[in-house]
Amino acid sequence: MNARHLGQLVLAMSLVALDVASVRADNSGQDIIDAGNRTIDLIGREIFHPHLSENERRLFSEQRISVRPAADFNAYVDYQNERILIPGQMLAEVQLQIHGQIMVFENPSLAGKYADWLYALAERTARAARRIRDKQAVVDDIPIESFWHFAGVPQPRGLTPRQAVYQSEVFIDLLSFIVGHELGHLALGHGATASAGNRAAQEYAADAYALNLMQRSGRSVLPVISHLYMRFIAMEAVTGEAGHSSSRSHPPSQCRIHRIGHAELAGIMQSPAARANYERTTGMSVETFYQQLREFARACEETSGRGDA
Ligand SMILES: [Zn+2]
Repeated sequence: MNARHLGQLVLAMSLVALDVASVRADNSGQDIIDAGNRTIDLIGREIFHPHLSENERRLFSEQRISVRPAADFNAYVDYQNERILIPGQMLAEVQLQIHGQIMVFENPSLAGKYADWLYALAERTARAARRIRDKQAVVDDIPIESFWHFAGVPQPRGLTPRQAVYQSEVFIDLLSFIVGHELGHLALGHGATASAGNRAAQEYAADAYALNLMQRSGRSVLPVISHLYMRFIAMEAVTGEAGHSSSRSHPPSQCRIHRIGHAELAGIMQSPAARANYERTTGMSVETFYQQLREFARACEETSGRGDA
């Protein structure tokens, strides 16, 4: 997926909440770590709780799932110690990204700049990873530029109640998906030593596991599509030419989006009530969503056909 596609995706997602105005983001290190850990607690105690195995509940109650400063952008499972680690920097970026998306909802002419900013974020992450690899830093310590600063527009002030709800709901959904995905790796008995082919299969299985948990918990995966994966797409574009694919653990993002979105859509299609609820809360018709998924399917085929996996 190229910059033009990403810009189109940003605009398509702008349909989700046209009347949401600006929010304020505070992303100082410890604040975001605390907010992340509180949200994980909420996910374990309330959102996922009825659907978790005893063993999964134990992981939450023993605080084995946690946010911390990290050297890696991606969340990961420490299989040996049964821990799920989520990088604070990733959550800080997610918060700023949600905030930036809301600014695009208000002013769609910012969509192009927003796509550029996602690439800048991806380059920042790649730079931080190099610093760590070259032993110039222990954790990702490069500041994250906010969208409003990057775009050269005034910092938005204040939060309407509706914006605050949107911001926190999207954050909860994103973190639910990330936690659900890593729980899936643990619950399905995955390990760190799978072959590249098995690795891709394991990633799809962990995505399906997370999606299932979210659907049963009454959460939507759409925010994951609109926020987290846009970042992954930008990161792939930034690092994609550097022969990364042999060491990659995740299949191409558009393939994952297509699979996850398709499953979500199937659930929505089954129930007229779910369909009406979806269209009311997202402002997007099911058909628009379906069109977007076809784009992803096409992009996935193009990527898979390039022979670079
Ligand atoms: Zn994974």
